Amino acid sequence: MFAVAIDGPAGAGKSSVAKAAAQELGFVYVDTGAIYRTIALHVLRQGVDPHDAPAVEALLPAIQVGLEYTPEGQVMRLNGEDVTSLIRTPEVSMATSACSAIPAVRAFLLQLQRDLAEKNNVLMDGRDIGTVVLPHAQLKVFLTASAQERARRRVRQLEESGQAADYEAILRDIQQRDYQDSHREVAPLRPAEDAVLVDTSQDSFARSVERLVGLVRERL
Ligand code: C5P
Repeated sequence: MFAVAIDGPAGAGKSSVAKAAAQELGFVYVDTGAIYRTIALHVLRQGVDPHDAPAVEALLPAIQVGLEYTPEGQVMRLNGEDVTSLIRTPEVSMATSACSAIPAVRAFLLQLQRDLAEKNNVLMDGRDIGTVVLPHAQLKVFLTASAQERARRRVRQLEESGQAADYEAILRDIQQRDYQDSHREVAPLRPAEDAVLVDTSQDSFARSVERLVGLVRERL
């Protein structure tokens, strides 16, 4: 199997770029953020504080996370329920950042992620895929863009879908998540030593996909 580990900060376009590249290559695109989000949704629904590590840990045995791959993309199931669209709210994003800093949560999800890469050619997108989950991936990419450019892209995305967008608030949100993700003790966001750094600040979407596909094809 061929594994591509794609790590990088929130909003760098990892998911859309990796999804398009996976389609072109015939690989399975695995969005690991969605898996963490599913845990966070359960935590919020139970009324548990996502920063309360022992309380979050106590919920884990009752959580069944399911993944399905359909032509529309990755479907997330929480104890059987399709939660794919419910995990995309800003509230869940913030809770996910807190939950994913808990070692027991990361340990709980590790094997699930490795199993996916054992059975499929994957482009796996996350924060610690190259450093922890798939240290032997044939290609590791650290995909990033400046916080300002990421905020601008998010504003555009929201406006295109008819929603109001506040650039300053979005930029603050991105900077706060970057800080939380890169300063946590377990699996902090950082490039693997052997990762190829891809900064897409100046690239169009199509160019970013082309760069990623090119890096994979060089190694196939
Ligand atoms: O990629 P996405 O923005 O959906 O991820 C949501 C949050 O999940 C991130 O901010 C990060 O805290 C966490 N995460 C993680 N490890 C991963 C994927 C996501 O800690 N492999």
